[in-house]
Amino acid sequence: MKFGGTSMAGTERIRRVAQIVRKQAAGGNEVAVVVSAMAGETDRLVNFAREAHALYDPAEYDVVVASGEQVTSGLLALTLQSLGQKARSWLGWQLPVRTIEAHAKARVDAIDSEALLASMADGTIAVIPGFQGLGADGRITTMGRGGSDTSAVAVAAAVKADRCDIYTDVDGVYTTDPRIVAKARKLKAVTYEEMLELASVGAKVLQTRSVSLAMKEGVRIQVLSSFVDDDATPADDLPGTLIVSEEEMERMVEEGKMERKLVTGIAHDKNEAKIILTRVPDKPGAVAEIFSPLAEASINVDMIIQNVGRDKGETDVTFTIPQADLARAQALLEDKREAIGYNRIITDSHVAKISVVGVGMKSHAGVASDMFRALAERGINIQAITTSEIKVSVMIDEDETELAVRVLHTAYGLDAEDAA
Ligand code: ADP
Ligand code: ASP
Ligand code: MG
Repeated sequence: MKFGGTSMAGTERIRRVAQIVRKQAAGGNEVAVVVSAMAGETDRLVNFAREAHALYDPAEYDVVVASGEQVTSGLLALTLQSLGQKARSWLGWQLPVRTIEAHAKARVDAIDSEALLASMADGTIAVIPGFQGLGADGRITTMGRGGSDTSAVAVAAAVKADRCDIYTDVDGVYTTDPRIVAKARKLKAVTYEEMLELASVGAKVLQTRSVSLAMKEGVRIQVLSSFVDDDATPADDLPGTLIVSEEEMERMVEEGKMERKLVTGIAHDKNEAKIILTRVPDKPGAVAEIFSPLAEASINVDMIIQNVGRDKGETDVTFTIPQADLARAQALLEDKREAIGYNRIITDSHVAKISVVGVGMKSHAGVASDMFRALAERGINIQAITTSEIKVSVMIDEDETELAVRVLHTAYGLDAEDAA
């Protein structure tokens, strides 16, 4: 069971979580719980780190930001104990959750689960702070924002759990963010592949890595709400959204439990920023000069457009990166100005990426053109486009995000029938 930030926001909410956990354990289950920091806490900690040092050392950043989950794991263990339930916390370095790669974006490598399993078998509920792990350098790491989902899936895989229930503040995965589109529909199931794509383009209900890990390890995920009454449908009766394999989805469709549309979901992402380098020499190696330093600094480039060369053998190169990396990217590129040979650097963080996702696209043409037409009819200008086998993304002005999502939701026939 994993509980996110809003589910853990304050002692009252934690008491509710403890009751849900206790009920699951009372049903004869051995339970491991992964918790997030209280809502808003990680943002607060990130700001402290930034204030202390704008170009912070990621290893020390991890020390600061991992602390939010230490607090909630201890509080949940205490609250469970107050209800007469045996419980203990297992910090990332105690299990340990071994991680590899960079600080602040570490990946789970392995979890030593022997002691954990023994304790659970003895009837003690294990409470594990999400987001944090132990690096190969022996220091504390964190797994990127939203990383508790990945912690939960990793723990579920390590203990060979029957299911990984991800409790949050919505009751499942919807066709789009239900906080933006009132007509969004809850999905009974989504395939790993589609969920992976949706998460990677901004549906933050699950961290992208948690989905790829679940797919690789065959972990069965259910997304459901912790904001429920005692008489709500029990988690074992699957009231939320299941993340399933393609085969299981096909079975559900055949049995009439699921209806498949061309587009499964729509996501938006306001956390990207656009960079334009003007008058880059139009010659072999120019693009490598731009992107190599970014890659070395672990800055992920998403959309790239290299315009058709203009006269004098020059071209403009436009690309997007995470907004959080904009200052670093700009500094790196300004450093390399001579080597790259561009004229001006223009940045814009007032952009949003809107994506439509669905496996139906593999075998059906016209999804992209429908998207462009629907946006054009509302006068929404497209600044960049990328596609994958099951996704089309466009970059637009940030102010038009909500409008674009609503328009596309209707255009692809996703609106719930009963909504006004
Ligand atoms: P937690 O703190 O529990 O990890 P998050 O805020 O990370 O919760 O994720 C839950 C939020 O994801 C919801 O409140 C919702 O606004 C947002 N969200 C975005 N896209 C979707 C979607 N397609 N379906 C459901 N929720 C979505
Ligand atoms: N607390 C961390 C964050 O806000 C991890 C998580 O909640 O999943 O990113
Ligand atoms: Mg989350």
